[in-house]
Amino acid sequence: MTELKTVHEAAREVPAIVKSDVVVVGGGSAGVGAAVSAARNGASVTLLERYPHLGGMASGGMVLVLDDMVNGQEITVTGIVMEMVERMKALGLAVYPPEEDRKTNWDVYRKWARWGAFDFHVPSQPEPIIFAVAFDPDGWKRVSNNLIQEAGINLRLHSWFSEPIVEDGAIKGVICETKMGRQAILGDVVIDATGDLDVASRAGAAHGTGAYIVTTVFRLGDVDTEKAEAFEWEHPDEFKAIDRAAKRIIGGSWARWWLKTPLPGIVWCNCPHMTGYDGMSVEHLTAAEFDGRGRIERLVAFVQKNLPGFENSYLLGTAEQIGVRQTRLLEGEYVVTKDDVVNRVHFPDTVCRGRDYYTPYRALLPRDVENLIVAGRHYSATPEAQRMSREIPPCMLQGEAVGVAAALALQGGVRLRDVDPAAIQRQMRKQGADPGDIPSANANVPIAAE
Ligand SMILES: Cc1cc2nc3c(=O)[nH]c(=O)nc-3n(C[C@H](O)[C@H](O)[C@H](O)COP(=O)(O)OP(=O)(O)OC[C@H]3O[C@@H](n4cnc5c(N)ncnc54)[C@H](O)[C@@H]3O)c2cc1C
Repeated sequence: MTELKTVHEAAREVPAIVKSDVVVVGGGSAGVGAAVSAARNGASVTLLERYPHLGGMASGGMVLVLDDMVNGQEITVTGIVMEMVERMKALGLAVYPPEEDRKTNWDVYRKWARWGAFDFHVPSQPEPIIFAVAFDPDGWKRVSNNLIQEAGINLRLHSWFSEPIVEDGAIKGVICETKMGRQAILGDVVIDATGDLDVASRAGAAHGTGAYIVTTVFRLGDVDTEKAEAFEWEHPDEFKAIDRAAKRIIGGSWARWWLKTPLPGIVWCNCPHMTGYDGMSVEHLTAAEFDGRGRIERLVAFVQKNLPGFENSYLLGTAEQIGVRQTRLLEGEYVVTKDDVVNRVHFPDTVCRGRDYYTPYRALLPRDVENLIVAGRHYSATPEAQRMSREIPPCMLQGEAVGVAAALALQGGVRLRDVDPAAIQRQMRKQGADPGDIPSANANVPIAAE
């Protein structure tokens, strides 16, 4: 076999398409939160996304429950993500338990468990029913589009970030690949919301690498959910035997491998759990796509035959984006540890939060590159800490905080690292988002990894 070496890429001129105050790369929950927040605070914003839609894992990845939003019964993650929830609800595309059902007993559990609205961090039976939101992926895309349009953001889909433009240790913009060739997008602040730290890592920011299970999420159609739930509750032993066999076929899943969605008869399946794949390697991702599909086909054939309620079910589709949970992680001004998350360590510069853990502003700031900041699942945390603190709502809240920080830096003519965290906290509160600067009083429930 011919030994392949490197090829020389000739230098070339790249057309500069637009210059904005802020360039956000990645239109997932963190990127949309960042773009909307920066624009609402007066910045001109360009948002770049490689796919034809917004949402990242929350739409293309078909991850269809918003969790990690409450500490016990108190909703702690608020702001733009709650706007998304209420807008989707108004369209009939989001479902969550009303306040009177958020308690711990078998009646409410039976009603809400298959919506995924239970607190899996609490090791009791039944688990408490809490505020968690089942939503529709197209609803997420639609509402994200509305928020982006209303905020006057220059959205550029089908734009795949490839290179940062860095001069004298400061980022000046990015280059992306498009059908029209390479395009330069310039900005005074760049926000990396790619989830894989594509921008910051290539700009020279210190980072580490983690890995976790990979999942091809999928949806099944024409499931008689009423019949399936009745069977589960009325024939628990038979149900458990079939469910165990189904889980063996799919090869790894959470306790409930299928959950209801707002669309009748359509369920989403947060499985299989596939190990040993590197979420950045083309070879691994290609193999994982085949592995996931194979397992799904076998599971569907099994449940059609064996699981009451699933007789007529069919594979509605697999997620457009394979579910990668962890790849590159920033090593920023502060690295959040598992102890910080588990012990709910509070920081003077906390600017956003999850259910009851706190994110310091320093964990969003690269050490080595100016004008660059990050939001989302690649934030500065150890791999163990990230596993416990990377759900959709906290990622969106991180984006919101970073959008505020970018606008404040531009208004004050200061470096991102010199923005006063107290000013970010004040502005977050003003726009309805709890920055987590005051720790919750009832922080007493142990946190487990999802
Ligand atoms: C299988 C699975 C199940 C999960 N279950 C839950 C759950 O039940 N509830 C929950 O709340 N969370 C869950 N999570 C976690 C959660 O989905 C993610 O951590 C979160 O959505 C990450 O948001 P993000 O904005 O940081 O990244 P993403 O959602 O991944 O968004 C990144 C965006 O950047 C774009 N992008 C990436 N690279 C480039 C590039 N080079 N150029 C241009 N654009 C680019 C992507 O296309 C994407 O739109 C789950 C995750 C997985 C994988």
